[in-house]
Amino acid sequence: MNTATIYARISSDLKDKIIALAKSSGKQQGETLTALLNQGLLYEESQRELKETQGKLTEVQESARTLGTELERVKADLAMARREIDVAERAKGHLQRILNTEVGRCVFPDCGAPVNLYGFVYQQCPCGHSRRIELHDEYKKAPGVGDVIVTGLAIFGGVALAAELLGDKRTEGTS
Ligand SMILES: [Zn+2]
Repeated sequence: MNTATIYARISSDLKDKIIALAKSSGKQQGETLTALLNQGLLYEESQRELKETQGKLTEVQESARTLGTELERVKADLAMARREIDVAERAKGHLQRILNTEVGRCVFPDCGAPVNLYGFVYQQCPCGHSRRIELHDEYKKAPGVGDVIVTGLAIFGGVALAAELLGDKRTEGTS
């Protein structure tokens, strides 16, 4: 190890402490001072490294927190979307059943095609005959059924919208 000498003026108080430390450790004063200086330099270095590490840790923690928050938000959005899809699917199924309910028959000669509520609302049989629909007896006679048909007519605007939502203008009468 190369050595060099420096001269420094220090307080007599500090000098006394170095002498006392050298005595207690059984070392030379110069050796003791060099050891102290080395420790001081190492301390500075390790403090700097510690600060850097802490900075990095804080950065990592912050991005982890941000990611966690983002993940929670995405999860919440997903749950919300799933609920909305469930509701839409149920509404769609319900509308499909209502629209597919067979309510009458086409009385055009040699036709007789069954007509569902959608067809009835538009007064059109599946074969394209207009205004030749006769309601089934149960829809003509049963009490309250008239109200159902009226309700069907009341949702006339809704039927068009529903058909659009269902993506099928010709909802087949399958019942
Ligand atoms: Zn017809």
